[in-house]
Amino acid sequence: MADMLLSDALLRWYRSHARALPWRAQPGEAPPDAYRVWLSEIMLQQTTVAAVKPYFSAFTERWPTVEALAAAANAEIMAAWAGLGYYARARNLHACARAIVSDHDGKFPETEAELRTLPGIGAYTGAAIAAIAFGKSATVVDANVERVIARLHAIETPLPKARPAIRAIAESLTPEIHAGDFAQAMMDLGATICTARNPDCQRCPLQGACLAFRTDDPGRFPIKAPKKAKPVRRGTAYWIERNETVLLVRHPERGMLGGMRALPSTGWREASPGPADAPAGIDWTRYGTVSHVFTHFALELEVVGGRALTDEDHQGEWWPIATIEEAGLPTLFAKAVALVGAQRENDQ
Ligand code: SF4
Repeated sequence: MADMLLSDALLRWYRSHARALPWRAQPGEAPPDAYRVWLSEIMLQQTTVAAVKPYFSAFTERWPTVEALAAAANAEIMAAWAGLGYYARARNLHACARAIVSDHDGKFPETEAELRTLPGIGAYTGAAIAAIAFGKSATVVDANVERVIARLHAIETPLPKARPAIRAIAESLTPEIHAGDFAQAMMDLGATICTARNPDCQRCPLQGACLAFRTDDPGRFPIKAPKKAKPVRRGTAYWIERNETVLLVRHPERGMLGGMRALPSTGWREASPGPADAPAGIDWTRYGTVSHVFTHFALELEVVGGRALTDEDHQGEWWPIATIEEAGLPTLFAKAVALVGAQRENDQ
């Protein structure tokens, strides 16, 4: 199948099989508002559609325009993002909204090149906004698209080395018109039919052009370079209680979990922190350990708790324990809090 025929076959399939998603326009409808496309694409980075949906509704209800988001307090945005992970995205989201309001009169620029000058918008997101919101012929390559193309061409070179070749093929397939529908069609095909495990080739509109389909194991593609085991780091988090409140701190703006509320904790390093690192003057109880996997390392976080005799020696915010769910803690610390809660229930 020549490139144009393949694009046409995919677009035809998309017209009757497009996923209905809250940030989408259906095929043939006017393109969605760039604000909604941008917000959804930032949220979808490394995050599933199912996880993003409630956050997308909450954000668009609370901040329906880019101006409203730009005017929000940073702490509110960080708290509303809590649980979605990769918090640098939320910091950049706010910086980007402010840049659009102050430098672009509240309107998203339409070209990939201009979009990429904005905070948090890289090659993928710039292309997705240009194609989906503005109909530009931009090539959008996410993990779904990568998988579909690696299979169509039965590419034996492992990822990530195969990426330049995959991008070149994606560029040759991208049509001049309907580029937004084409990008979303590729994503939908990868998400619903050409899935990572057990691709449903019998329902695939591209079966006739697919080299992997002619092999006995299409799901073998894309070939992946063997993964290196993630290094393990260790640390301790402190649940410090006083008068039905618990001490929370805010991580510095720059760095991991930047700007997020958290339990006080040691640094995270290869060796376990010793008791000498613990805040003084408290009789500690050990609650257990929570595990969390970040992009570059796995963390084993020991959770210990105790009562502070005074609040003078502790810097931070004393948060009511009864409303701790509203503190907007990132997932790692939400797990630590859940561990403490379970232990406290057992002890009652
Ligand atoms: S035929 Fe199978 S492997 Fe090939 S693109 Fe379609 S679903 Fe993927």
